[in-house]
Formats: sequence, structure tokens, C-alpha cells
Amino acid sequence: MFVDSHAHLDGPEFDTDRDEVIQRARDVGVSAILNVGTGDPHNGSFERAVELAEKHADVYAALGVHPHDARLFDNESEQRITSLIEQSSRVIAWGEIGLDFHYDNSPRDVQMNVFRRQLQLAREASLPVIIHTREAEKETLEILRSERADCSLPGVMHCFSGSLDLAHQAIELGLYISFSGIITFKKAEDLRAVAKQVPFDRLLIETDCPFLAPVPFRGKRNEPAFVVEVARCLAELRELSLQEVAQSTSENFATIFKLDKRGASPPS
Ligand SMILES: [Zn+2]
Ligand SMILES: [Zn+2]
Repeated sequence: MFVDSHAHLDGPEFDTDRDEVIQRARDVGVSAILNVGTGDPHNGSFERAVELAEKHADVYAALGVHPHDARLFDNESEQRITSLIEQSSRVIAWGEIGLDFHYDNSPRDVQMNVFRRQLQLAREASLPVIIHTREAEKETLEILRSERADCSLPGVMHCFSGSLDLAHQAIELGLYISFSGIITFKKAEDLRAVAKQVPFDRLLIETDCPFLAPVPFRGKRNEPAFVVEVARCLAELRELSLQEVAQSTSENFATIFKLDKRGASPPS
């Protein structure tokens, strides 16, 4: 009944116990996990993400070149993603893509060009996008506005940590807002105030594991089972039952990724 809308399970952090981690998530009621393939587009990371989703009926894949790796984006990575999408119906999103001006691992102009290009490709592939934005709110919104003028392509603003104003502008553009374990952190008062007000039909939950483990697991390796703590925090904030938060975030996930039309049963 819970959905982890953003996880990184194909990396080395899970090499010793990946299947157990997925089973632990099932045991606490996680019915779907969107595994986001990132990293160097030439080292097989996208293939690994698709392989994992092909192996597990409750794991889906998203593919895209992260803003950190934008400098590695080229024709070959573009073609690799496009052909994996054609080959596997388990790929349900293009991402994560966007801008990260905090780390600046790739030059900003390169990040912006690669973000634009991948938005176009996602539109051509008719896939929703997963957006990563850090310290680049203005530029992210500008690019989304110019590339998605018709609002026909839905998407997710993942690991949201911005202002209520940013959330509203993102929602106006057709995006959903996904909260991670950050909302459970002691100092995240401002973000909790935002999480309290985002429209219920645009809310998603995620772990972004192996990073950002929620309280009470903070500092440990994060995993999809811990998404329950994100839901619990949202339930308390919004004075709802855990069940209600689980159900509507799962329904929102099924809606945005059109799981019913993909022949897969929506998470229940
Ligand atoms: Zn991210
Ligand atoms: Zn991520």
C-alpha cells in the first residue's frame, strides 16, 4: 500500500543484499518502487536499472542523465536510453534530470542544455519526467516553462526541499511534489510547513535511498521499507491516518505513471 517513488537500488551499496532489501519493503507493505538509474551513462548503469525492474514485478525503472553527470551526456547515451525504453515496458519515467548548482559537478551551461534536451526526448517518448533541482529554482522553472509550454507532459519534483511558492509553480506546470526523509529531520520545520499545504492529489513519497534515511534511521543506509516513516510524518502533519496517506500517494503514483494503462495493476 506504500509506494517508494524514488530509490537507487542498483548501486554498489545494495550489492550484498538487494533482494532482501526489496523483500523487507514488501513485508512492511511497499507495493511499488521506482528505481532511478543514474551515474555514468556509459558504464552500464541504465542496463542495470532495467534488469532489476525486469526481475521484480513491483520494481519499475526511470532512466536519465543526472545533472551531476551532464558533462558525460552525448548521442550514445541518448540512443541507449531511447532504445532501452523501446525494449522494456518496465521503464516508466525519464529521469532524474535537472539542475544542481550546489555541487556544480558539471558546468552550469552544460547542465541547462542537457536538461532541455532530455525534456524534449521525454516528450517524444511520452514519458513523465523526474526532476532534480538544487539551488537552481529560478533556472529550473524557466527551462520547464519554455520546454513544456503545452503542459502535456507530467512529472515529479523529487526530494522536494523548496518553498511553498516553488511547489505551487511546479504544480501549475503539471508536476507532482515528492517528499523524502528530509521532512522527518529535526531542523526541517520550514519544509514540514510546506508539506502540510501541498494539495493532497499532488503528493508523493520517496526514500531517495541509499541517501537521506528518515528519523529514526538517520545516518544509516536508507532503503525502501523506510518510506513508511515519510508517510507517518505526513500523516501527523496533515492529521490523517497512515492508511489515508499511503492510499492517496499510491493512487497519485499510479495516475502520473499511467500504471493502469501499462497492463500492470495499480498499487493497492
Ligand atoms: Zn535527485
Ligand atoms: Zn535520486
